[in-house]
Amino acid sequence: MNANSPASDECPPPVRIERVPQERALEIEWSDGRVRRLALLGLRAECMCARCVDELTGERIADVEGLDPDVAIRDLSLVGNYALKIHWSDGHDTGLYTWAHLRRLCEGG
Ligand SMILES: [Zn+2]
Repeated sequence: MNANSPASDECPPPVRIERVPQERALEIEWSDGRVRRLALLGLRAECMCARCVDELTGERIADVEGLDPDVAIRDLSLVGNYALKIHWSDGHDTGLYTWAHLRRLCEGG
């Protein structure tokens, strides 16, 4: 359950997280003013849970190609103050996205 250790001091939490369904994106605003929209499909493909990534090898075991391109967010919840849990429309809800992970995604691409 708690394979990813909390890294709250590694990355401050976002100040705003907003769904943008018409763009199939999640908009995240950080305390330094950076605002980025992450594509939901990319976010879904980046899930780091034990069903998606082999915990020992770090290898992605989920079939990313087979993901629903129209995947949507059914629900969002905060986990402590270090991560976001996303309940996806395809039923997947075991993944946590730590702030550090989200920040990395916002800085990439
Ligand atoms: Zn997953």
